[in-house]
Amino acid sequence: MSTGKFPTTIGSNSPVMQPQQTFASARAKVPTRQSIALISEHGDPAAEIGKDAAGGQNVYVRQVGEALAKLGWQVDMFTRKSSPDDAAIVQHAPHCRTIRLSAGPEAYIPRDELFQYMPQFVTAFQNFQQQEGIEYPLAHTNYWMSGWVGLELQRRQNIQLIHTYHSLGAVKYLSVSDIPAIAQTRLAVEQQILEQAHCVVATSPQEQADLETLVSRNGKIDIIPCGTDVSTFRLISKTEARKQLGISAKEKVVLYVGRFDKRKGIETLVRATGELRTQLEQGEEIDPQHLKLLVVGGSDPHEADGSERRRIESIVTELDLTANTQFVGMVGHDRLALYYTAADVCVVPSHYEPFGLVAIEAMACGTPVVASDVGGLKFTVISEETGLLVPPQDVSKFAHAIGRILTDEIWARKIRKQASTRVQQNFSWAGVSIQLSDLYRRLLAQSSVSPGMGRGSSSTSTLLPKRVVKAS
Ligand code: UDP
Repeated sequence: MSTGKFPTTIGSNSPVMQPQQTFASARAKVPTRQSIALISEHGDPAAEIGKDAAGGQNVYVRQVGEALAKLGWQVDMFTRKSSPDDAAIVQHAPHCRTIRLSAGPEAYIPRDELFQYMPQFVTAFQNFQQQEGIEYPLAHTNYWMSGWVGLELQRRQNIQLIHTYHSLGAVKYLSVSDIPAIAQTRLAVEQQILEQAHCVVATSPQEQADLETLVSRNGKIDIIPCGTDVSTFRLISKTEARKQLGISAKEKVVLYVGRFDKRKGIETLVRATGELRTQLEQGEEIDPQHLKLLVVGGSDPHEADGSERRRIESIVTELDLTANTQFVGMVGHDRLALYYTAADVCVVPSHYEPFGLVAIEAMACGTPVVASDVGGLKFTVISEETGLLVPPQDVSKFAHAIGRILTDEIWARKIRKQASTRVQQNFSWAGVSIQLSDLYRRLLAQSSVSPGMGRGSSSTSTLLPKRVVKAS
């Protein structure tokens, strides 16, 4: 945007701010706004959703940030600058911006190699505070490395620390075979965060139970779920959605949306589709040629994710499913609702899923969900009411569940209403943000009663990053 009225640091994707509003004028109008910091060291909230390697964390931080700004906070979202082409500051709305801090090379760095740059992130954060003349009284950190940043800040200044894990090493490492070199450090930091943050936000009852049994009994946990944009993901006409996407009424559409990552279980879905097609060949209810698997989501241009996509493609070829499968690539949130609506069933076959935004997005559009009976999915999907829960990695059970939904149209129509109502009532970003806002206010009120009293002792040193080597 080049209105000439914006400070030069503002990036081009600043859609909401009105041309006549500069930072200064926006701030001047609401002088009492409390500034807070949301920290997401990877998962840039300004990354276009559905583009780059954006996943649930980007969506969460950005949506929560914007909704909190509407509730009256000045929200500054901090992330690591990972490209020299990215603007240092991106203004999303008058009181909500992303600030990209220099910490390590301005280039893509795999997550497993990022921890060593976190001390630089802390320094850059404190320098930014000094430049702006702000000292944030509260930081909400996301993912364990940002949590480490939060613990460091807690040692250095009077700050309330709230943390959302997004993914828990203690659970993740139980379900993956390739454990990275950083694992021990991550587990130790995750424990420190739980024991020392003022509050940890678990996004589902399962996550709370995992924290208590696998991480530490000492910690303050509140359950506040993730949300979805119920004005984007809502009931729209399936006929119209299919028309726009060029999908005929005859086709039975099975949808996957998400990143190419082994723990997402795309292999299970592809194999289940193969098994289902074999079953359809033996019956007469559905023409097997009309079975369509749409895989929405992109691979990161970097090697790790790309190799998972190639692996999945080779399974599709091996099972002779090429004619039944389409790799759609990444789709922005503006068009994603069309895919959810056009689908007969959305499948979330993750081995492990801390929350799983895709499941609630699909349900908000009225699409039945077949999901692994794990993590947050156990909480969001009500089996037999909004979809079906299936044991993870069980190809035959996935095939059976998908088949049940495809062949029972009356039941699928009943699910449609129930699924969308569940999301509207429980998982809107507005509702989620009100709960977070209440939590922040409570903690800030407590801190003004006893200033400087963090849960963790200010003299406790946090684990220091060492140079880490990428796991082979
Ligand atoms: N997503 C998207 N376009 C795509 C693929 C994914 O916008 O092509 C979004 C999706 O809508 C969801 C997020 O990426 O909001 C994925 O979040 P989820 O919690 O399901 O998985 P995560 O990436 O956090 O593991």
